[in-house]
Order: sequence, then structure tokens, then C-alpha cells
Amino acid sequence: MIPAMRSSRGTKPDQGSTGDFRSLITTPDAGQKASLSLSDGSRIAVIGGGPAGSFFGYFTLMMAQMLGRDLDVTIFEPKDFLTPGPGSCNRCGGVISELMVQTLAVEGINIPSSVIQRGLSSYELYTELGDVSIETPTKEKTIASVYRGGGPQDLVISDKDSFDAFLLRRAVEKGARHCARYVDRIAFEEGKPVLFSGEERLMQADLVVGAFGVNTWKVPQFEGLPFRYHRPRMTRTAIAEIALDPDYITERYGNSVQLFLLPVKNVLFAAIIPKRSYVTLCILGKAINRSTVDVFLAHPKVRALFPEGRLDRLACMCLPMMNVGAPRRPYADRIVFIGDSGSTRLYKDGIGGAYFMAKSAVKTVIMNGVSRKDFAGNFMPDYRSIRVDNRFGRFLFWVTSMFRKFGFLNAAMLEVVDKEQADPSDGRKILSAILWDMFTGNERYRSIFFRAIAPELVIKMTWSAVRHFFGGSHDR
Ligand SMILES: Cc1cc2nc3c(=O)[nH]c(=O)nc-3n(C[C@H](O)[C@H](O)[C@H](O)COP(=O)(O)OP(=O)(O)OC[C@H]3O[C@@H](n4cnc5c(N)ncnc54)[C@H](O)[C@@H]3O)c2cc1C
Repeated sequence: MIPAMRSSRGTKPDQGSTGDFRSLITTPDAGQKASLSLSDGSRIAVIGGGPAGSFFGYFTLMMAQMLGRDLDVTIFEPKDFLTPGPGSCNRCGGVISELMVQTLAVEGINIPSSVIQRGLSSYELYTELGDVSIETPTKEKTIASVYRGGGPQDLVISDKDSFDAFLLRRAVEKGARHCARYVDRIAFEEGKPVLFSGEERLMQADLVVGAFGVNTWKVPQFEGLPFRYHRPRMTRTAIAEIALDPDYITERYGNSVQLFLLPVKNVLFAAIIPKRSYVTLCILGKAINRSTVDVFLAHPKVRALFPEGRLDRLACMCLPMMNVGAPRRPYADRIVFIGDSGSTRLYKDGIGGAYFMAKSAVKTVIMNGVSRKDFAGNFMPDYRSIRVDNRFGRFLFWVTSMFRKFGFLNAAMLEVVDKEQADPSDGRKILSAILWDMFTGNERYRSIFFRAIAPELVIKMTWSAVRHFFGGSHDR
């Protein structure tokens, strides 16, 4: 039996035990040559109901309904995203970029105010030599901060909803079935994948979508694939929730994300994101652990953001993994990997990346088919475009780390941004816009890179850097 099933459709996944399933297993290649396109009644199993899985379920059903086709989508997701604490949370800073907010609205997915913790419109950027404020280029408060699960462990104010619960509900409203089970194994019977939870056979599918992210304690095993599914390259990060008085948050943080490019060992960058009655600290870098969090929080610029410079207790804290290198091969016949278990954007906008790859997979399976040839020809170009873009991202983050490391570069950056911000006639504010886009999901790294090598900016930065270098003083 599949417990905890919320369904808006009639048919149910297969039930019953596995019996001696191993004798039935054949590889997709050895199986009978079934048609590798979806038809009415085809069954799709989505492993994971985070953003990637819910987007996939929602848009598949939307597109199928538009084309008058009847597809059966089951999303396997064991977490209850409304329970407070790390067990129900898809560990993340919870920043939804303005582009993502707008794109979803155009798609008819309006994030309700119960999900939005705070609307955000600016960044406060802290560096060793000084700080700058950078406003959203559109001057609109359109970035949203949300909780991915039910909020911190000791949550006291519960008048809120979770982003992942909201998306999963939208997929279910479209007609997807939600099954609250872990999937731990996929085998092939007569060329089609079959999902198992322990020894229990959950269902046979015409297509399996891997959307289980990188923070699962149960990576599903794929048996009989013509290649081995390699997990993405990952790095450890840190997230901490800190309870503060809502009025204090409004007064001290306002609608600004606090971004830190400080020379703290192993930290590439960090952000504090204001919510209603908590602020969320995210630290990205290398070999991050609990003591990195303590060292970071002890930095005077960080302490100054807390009442009387004191920080008594973390309400919740975890060290989640982050995808920093997509697996080379994200598909096989009847199987495709999306979201963090496939390819996502480096260090930012993972939710936007999940949306992009989910839609690419939806278009492929609905318009083309579910064979590896279909994925290679239609899904892979989008997948590769993210991988290529991340190479530009990696280079840009290396440059950013140089600004953090060398005082004369740090001072030059601050000087150029200060001048841009103070000059009302400078409509382009190139460096400010670049810094904004580096940390939000608005722009691809490739386009940021080409804006960063604009002669106008290179001349300004070089001139300022040379002056600070030979002047010896790194004051602004
Ligand atoms: C420190 C940090 C901060 C971040 N901040 C942001 C941010 O501010 N904004 C942003 O856009 N992105 C951010 N990200 C990235 C973002 O969290 C991910 O890119 C995004 O969650 C990916 O979505 P997903 O659906 O692929 O995976 P996930 O969100 O990880 O969802 C996977 C789902 O699969 C389920 N699952 C796992 N295994 C199984 C199984 N065996 N069977 C059934 N279900 C299973 C899990 O329960 C989970 O719900 C951040 C990441 C980190 C590490």
C-alpha cells in the first residue's frame, strides 16, 4: 500500500510486494522495443517534490491539458513542508529573484502573501574597507524571501506558508498525485522503469524524473542503466536561522539582503536574509563547518547587525550540500534528471535553475519523446548551456575573491560603485548592476562577464586600482 496519498485523479500506482523481482529485471536496451513517446494514460513518476519536481509536474499537466492529452503524474515526496524544523525543509536561503517572481506570475503561479516573508529591494554589501548600498535596478520591491519548509525549529509565529508546500499544492491542483514515500531503487522490467521503496513495488512508469536534489539521505539507486548515475560535484555550505524581534528586523535590515565579501577563512561570500521574525544566514565557500559559522558571526561587521552586538542563540542550523558541478550524463531511455540532481546555476538562483530545466524536460517529453535520443537532442542543449554559463560564473567569482583579498582592488570597487550611486546622470551604473546581478537570478553569468569587460568599466576600475595601489592608502 502507498500511504498518505493525496490524489485528484482516479487511477493508482501499482501496489503489492516485489516478490522475486530480480528475475524480471531487464535493461532498457534488452527490453522489448516499446514506443518511447508518451500517449494517453502514460505514467510519469517524479522522485522529489521540491521546486524541480513540482514545476515538472505542474507544467507537464498544463501542457498535456492544452494538447488534450491525458497523462498520469505521481510526485514522490516524503517531507511535510509545513512542519517546522530541518526535517521538513529543503535547506536554502529562500531568496526568489525578481525575474523568477515575475516569470511565475506570467505562468499563472502568483506567490501568495502568506508564503512571502518579506519583499526585498536592495543589497547592503559589506567589505573589509567599506560598505555600499545597491538598489534593485528597477527600484521595485520584487524579490521575495520565503521559507522552503515549515520554518525554524522553534518557530513561534506560525501565520505563514512554505514555498515548497505551495508549489506542490499547485501541481496537485493541476492533477498530479502526491505520494509521501521515499523511492530508494529503480529497476527495469520489460524496458520500463519500476520504482521501489524497500522491497515494496510502488509503480511501473513510462518515464522517471529524478528531482531529488543533493541533500537526500536516500539517493535512489538506478539498476540496469546503460551508465552509472554520478551525483553532481558538491560543496558543503551553512545555513542558520536567528530569531529577532520583527520591529528590530524592519528597523535594522529594512528590505535589504546583507551581503558580505569579508576576508574570513574559507568563506567565499555570505548573506543574511531578513524574514518576518528571523534572519537567515547563508555561508558559501570551501570546507564550511560549524566553527566557520562561529568565526563569521564574531566578525565586528556581522555582530553590529544584532541588538547590542550580541547573538545569544541560533534557532536552527544545518550544513547542507550545494551542487557545483553537473553530472555529465543526465538522461537515459525513460529517465531524466532535473534541478539540483542534474544541472543548476552556480551559487545563485537554484530555484530559477530548477524551473528552467524542468520546463526544458517538459517540452522534450511532451513534444518529442522520452528516449535518450530525444533528451540528447532537445534537453541536453539547455543542460549544457547552464554548464557553460557556470564556467563564466566560476571566473567571475574568482575575480570577486580577488576584490576581497587585495585592499587596492577592494577600494577601487567601492570607489567606482560609490561614484555610480552618487551620480544621478549615470543611468547605467555598470558595476552596481553587475554586483546586483552576480547575487540575484536576473542575469546569466555570460552576459555579466561581457558587461564586466566593457571598456568604460575596465578603464574606470584600472585607473582607480592603480591610484590606490601606488597611493598606498586604501581609503575611499
Ligand atoms: C546554503 C544554500 C542557500 C541557497 N539559497 C538559495 C536561494 O536563496 N535562492 C535560490 O533560488 N536557491 C538557493 N539555493 C539552491 C536551492 O536550494 C536549490 O537549487 C533548489 O532547492 C533545487 O531544487 P530541487 O527541487 O532540485 O531540489 P530540492 O529542493 O533539494 O528538492 C528535492 C526533493 O526531493 C525529495 N527527495 C530526496 N530524495 C528522495 C527520494 N529518494 N524519494 C522521494 N523524494 C526524495 C526531498 O525530500 C526534496 O523535497 C541555496 C542552496 C544552498 C545550499
